[in-house]
Amino acid sequence: MVSENLGKVRGRISAACERVERDPLEVKIVAVTKTHPPEVVREAIAAGINIIGENRVQEAEVKYKEIEAEIEWHLVGHLQRNKVRKALDIFSMIQSLDSKRLADEIEKESAKLDKMTPCLIEVNTSGEETKFGVAPDDLAGLVAEVLKLEHIKLVGLMTVGPLTQDKDRIRRSFVLLRELRNRVESVFGCYMPHLSMGMSDDFEIAVQEGATMLRLGRVLFGPRQSFAGA
Ligand SMILES: *Cc1c(COP(=O)(O)O)cnc(C)c1O
Repeated sequence: MVSENLGKVRGRISAACERVERDPLEVKIVAVTKTHPPEVVREAIAAGINIIGENRVQEAEVKYKEIEAEIEWHLVGHLQRNKVRKALDIFSMIQSLDSKRLADEIEKESAKLDKMTPCLIEVNTSGEETKFGVAPDDLAGLVAEVLKLEHIKLVGLMTVGPLTQDKDRIRRSFVLLRELRNRVESVFGCYMPHLSMGMSDDFEIAVQEGATMLRLGRVLFGPRQSFAGA
């Protein structure tokens, strides 16, 4: 079933790319397996997925230990500072960097491991109060701090679009993320190729607005389940 869903999703990504003359190879799928058991992760990998997204460190750990395949694991959910060490054992990318305090902790633990941790800064582009991420006005300040850190490699921005049926509002959110990325690149002279935006209900809009990573859960795996790794 995952394989069939993935085929359909790839078709929709290609069609969205065609409308704006993008190469579908520029768009990666991060398969978000939160709430699903390890078997589902295996099924995704068998279907051709090579990046798994999880939003909780503890839940990811259970699956990570069971899966042997050489794939990438990305953290897409909020990270508490006391879980950074464990997160670095599992995840090859942190997509949810949202404060200087968290950046300092990732820097400290990455230095101990003598490794460079690729990160995306999460931006709250919708203004919704329930959302994580830095406010657009605070982004430049955080970028300036993160660029000073030697063991964090800042490679882009991430956002969760607004929870609405209003396609124009969703699009504005994604356009804002792209514009913020462009501004950061020109102000700081850094290269931030990645825009992680677009989920099951809005990924085609995200593709049209320049997403390089789509974080897809329900459209691949159906409704969320109850696996919490316990
Ligand atoms: C759950 C989740 C997703 C995937 O959401 P779907 O709507 O199931 O595609 C993407 N990003 C984040 C941050 C998530 O928590």
